Formats: sequence, structure tokens, C-alpha cells
Amino acid sequence: MLKLDFHPSGRHFLQIPGPSPVPDRILRAMSLPTIDHRGPEFGALGRELLDKIRQVFKTQQPVVIYPASGTGAWEAALVNTLSAGDRVLMFETGHFATLWEKMARRLGLEPEFIGLPGYEGWRRGVQADLIEQRLKADGNHSIKAVCVVHNETSTGVTSDIAAVRRAIDAAKHPALLLVDTISGLACADYQHDAWGVDVTISGSQKGLMLPPGISFNAVSEKAIEASRSAKLPKSFWAWDEILELNRSGYWPYTPNTNLLYGLNEALDMLLEEGLDHVFARHQRWALGVRTAVETWGLEVQCQEPSVYSPVLTGVVMPDGVDADEVRSLIYRRFDLSLGTGLGKAKGKMFRIGHLGDCNDLTLIATLGGCEAGLKMCGVSLKGSGVLAALDYFAANPLDEAR
Ligand SMILES: *Cc1c(COP(=O)(O)O)cnc(C)c1O
Repeated sequence: MLKLDFHPSGRHFLQIPGPSPVPDRILRAMSLPTIDHRGPEFGALGRELLDKIRQVFKTQQPVVIYPASGTGAWEAALVNTLSAGDRVLMFETGHFATLWEKMARRLGLEPEFIGLPGYEGWRRGVQADLIEQRLKADGNHSIKAVCVVHNETSTGVTSDIAAVRRAIDAAKHPALLLVDTISGLACADYQHDAWGVDVTISGSQKGLMLPPGISFNAVSEKAIEASRSAKLPKSFWAWDEILELNRSGYWPYTPNTNLLYGLNEALDMLLEEGLDHVFARHQRWALGVRTAVETWGLEVQCQEPSVYSPVLTGVVMPDGVDADEVRSLIYRRFDLSLGTGLGKAKGKMFRIGHLGDCNDLTLIATLGGCEAGLKMCGVSLKGSGVLAALDYFAANPLDEAR
């Protein structure tokens, strides 16, 4: 048995921006016995969930499911559509964009990483005008794909993907559009078809409220067409055999059966609630949390209000305060996990996740842990963010606005 006796009584507060807390209803669904993945019951489950998952991506196209973390689905998107030496335009929004760029290089692609200078890009969204300019300058269409992160989990910025589509169209450029919404899906509105995305990458452990372990590629017809001539080596990740077997609800290799039970349950929960309600709930939580941060007199990492993330909020520390010290004190004293600053943001900020299976009071408790921890670390606060958020939540009930 894993030693968890560090944790005191009550539930641990898992407020990192993924993995997010898994609802009991999903845990129960996952506890059913593993079945024969070639048997008739499995085929029915496969067909049902492959159909429902498309509603969450807002697509009529197929969604491929991998028994892998989100990183695997990033690789799948690149190897299915591109060939060695292909130029890809990637936009630096933060740490996850940086990791995806590194992967592209390791796979033998030629990524061109653009963005705002210095740390600026880590506090703002994708600048679609810069993408348009770069594509217009690419007269011979040597750029084969544009890769952007929808919800940059390292900073708390949710970029405008429709604007990126418009930029590509305005430049009359044929590049594919690949989008990572690993942490955005089922928290923020996302429209694979309407936004003309060619491959959408997502994962299980964020808005879908599942444990880590499965990930997704929603594909377009253009992406499938590209996969027929793309030359990067692919076997495990290849779409063709998966799409073929998925038609009858099966996979070419052993799927993650129990996580698929969980996924089916998660899809029922999300679709029963209604996606618009799910998005409104996240927006409201994000506003409550930002109200707290502002009341403390601290800065939010995202400096562009139109792209504040509904999924998480980055809290910037005053000069001289190490965000990781604050975070680890809060973890030890209050059994509350917060997200660390990643890459260029290391030590400068911590991240509060407000996604999935939360409610007003789990967030009030989370803010309570933050407020106490900040004070214990000597950060002087202008006011009580906890009280401000509580007032905000009390004055703005979600369901009456429905
Ligand atoms: C979590 C995350 C990833 C990485 O996914 P893994 O499941 O850890 O491989 C990539 N991009 C974004 C935006 C993420 O939030």
C-alpha cells in the first residue's frame, strides 16, 4: 500500500490545474470489472462513447482515443500529419507551448517559434496578427502546420482559436491548424468544426475529470488526407487502423477499458449538465478567484482580460517571495496542492486550479489556504480575498442566471 499517512483526516484539496479531482460517480463507474475488449459488450460501449465524445469537441468528425497521456496525443498529431524537415509555425504562450516545440524538433520537424519578446508572451494570448504576417511572408507555402495551445496551463491564458483560423484564412495559406486543448476541453468553449481546426489534442485528467491515462485527437478531413502522405514514422499512433476498427467500437490494441468506463460516465455528466452550463460555472469560479487575488493586492499572471482562463489562475508573487516556498508551506500545513510555476515562471507565481469537480466552498477553502499561507510567508495582503470571493459567490448565484 502506498504510504499516504502524511495526509490528515478529510479529503486532500487537489487544486492543481490537472489532474483535477475525480468525482465519486466516475470512480464508481471505473470500479466495474474489466471486460473482454473484443467482446460484444465492449463494442457497444466503444460505439456509444465514440459518438458522445464528438459532442464535447463540437465535431462531426472522428475522435481518436489513445491509452496515453496528453503528450502522446501531441506526438500523434504531429506524426500523422507531417514529414521530416517540415516547417511548423508554433506560438510561444508558455511552458506547454515550449514543450510541444521541443517535441517537434526531436521528431525531426523544423519548428519556428514565434511570440512576444521575453516574458511578455507568457502573460498574454496567441497574437493572431503575428501568425497572419508570418504566413503572408511564406509565399511558397513551406510552413505545413500552425500549432497553438488553446488553454496555456502554465500561465492561465485561453487564446482565441477562431482568430487564429481567421489569420490563416486571411493569409490564404494551406497550413494545417493543430490545437492543444488538453486543459481547455470541457471547461472553456471549444469548437473543432466551426473553428476549422485540423487536429485537436486533448487529455483526460483536466476538464474531463478523469484520472490521467487517455488522450485524444479530433481530426478533420484535411488532416486525414494529410496523414495519407505524411512521412514521419508512425505505427502505434497511426490513425488509419484505429479509425477503421473504431467504426465497430473496437481498437487495434488493448484500450484502457476502465478509463473508458470513466469517460463514458464523464460524458454523461457533462452532457446532462449541458456544456454551456459547464462553461458558465468555470467562468464564474475564475471570476471569484480573480476577485480574491485582486483583493489581496496581488497580480494575476494573465495581463490580457479578454483571455483570462476559466480553468486556472496564476498568482504572481511580490518581488523577493519564492512562490514555491509559499506553495510547499501550504501543502504541508493545509493539505492543499497548488500548481507550481513552470519554466520561465518558476518561483515567480503559483497556479490555482478551478476546474471540473469543484464548488464554491472547495474554492473558498482553497483561497483560505492560500491566504493563510501567504501571510505565514510574510506577504502583506491588502485585504481578505477569501471574504471578497465569498461575497462574489453569494451575490452571483449561477443557477438563477440560467
Ligand atoms: C497537461 C497538459 C499537457 C501535458 O499533458 P500530459 O497528460 O501531462 O502528457 C500538455 N499541454 C497542456 C496545455 C496541458 O495542460
